[in-house]
Amino acid sequence: MSADEFLALARALERRHRVEGGKGFRLRDHAADDAGPLRSMDKATANANLEDAIGVLTRRQDMMYAQDRWSLLLIFQAMDAAGKDGAIKHVMSGVNPQGCSVHSFKAPSHEELDHDFLWRCATRLPARGMIGIFNRSYYEEVLVVRVHPQLLAGQPLPDELRHKDIWDERFRDIRNFEQHLHDNGTIVRKIFLHVSRDEQRRRFLERIDEPEKHWKFSERDVAERAHWDRYMECYEDAIKNTASKECPWYVIPADRKWYTRLAVSAVVTEVLASIDVHYPKPTKERAAALAKARASLEAEG
Ligand code: ATP
Ligand code: MG
Repeated sequence: MSADEFLALARALERRHRVEGGKGFRLRDHAADDAGPLRSMDKATANANLEDAIGVLTRRQDMMYAQDRWSLLLIFQAMDAAGKDGAIKHVMSGVNPQGCSVHSFKAPSHEELDHDFLWRCATRLPARGMIGIFNRSYYEEVLVVRVHPQLLAGQPLPDELRHKDIWDERFRDIRNFEQHLHDNGTIVRKIFLHVSRDEQRRRFLERIDEPEKHWKFSERDVAERAHWDRYMECYEDAIKNTASKECPWYVIPADRKWYTRLAVSAVVTEVLASIDVHYPKPTKERAAALAKARASLEAEG
């Protein structure tokens, strides 16, 4: 596959999974085992394409880092065992670690709960030139916290602020926060890895069967399955209320790992291809300084 062909494929996948407005959005219209135009692709071809994607991504990231203007925030959200860790690992395997930061957000600490719900994520945003990856994020505040009302009850909020509109307020705050990032040069892309309940069950069983995967398994994750439908409602509502043209969501089918990884890298490649990243062009003064340095080095020899 040529570079141009690959970029065309990346564009098609990016478009297929992009959600940029809430109107009419229904999670059930998105199949977890969709493989889009690649349905008949074999694993070897998929892997070769993934390598191409990573090659394009590496070069683009290098330019973004050198240019020091834009930053990219990639937010990953998913149910357990949807493959967040694997997707992050594969997609970012070719990028310069100096230009990339990954942060996982777990249940908040006391210190974190003593601040507004965006605070802990705001302290981890990528600087200019950097790609920042959030493995979970402030979206947990409208997902797990909404599914389990006792989590909200445990947050030290003033009582009069715990009213029925709290979720709409949080959606509004998230929209405004992301718009603010966008307006300041941070590109925000939100990725939901959409795994089916059946596939999650298969992956949990695999984790139990394979000793090397025991560490990934938690009994609590199985208990969480009882809330599956409620989680899906909350994901749908969150995506509906926070997808925008500037800061879209991507609903990526996650039942086939090879497809998930290819689609995620297509999204990232396409995003980096859509902004004007380039190596800084030398100014006249800079060109003169380089010529002078060259002359001085050559004189040494
Ligand atoms: P893995 O997929 O490998 O299990 P993980 O991201 O699920 O990784 P865990 O250590 O299992 O990591 O757990 C993180 C847990 O923290 C999740 O259950 C998540 O819902 C929870 N969490 C994250 N943010 C919040 C929050 N703001 N309030 C309450 N719980 C949260
Ligand atoms: Mg977990």
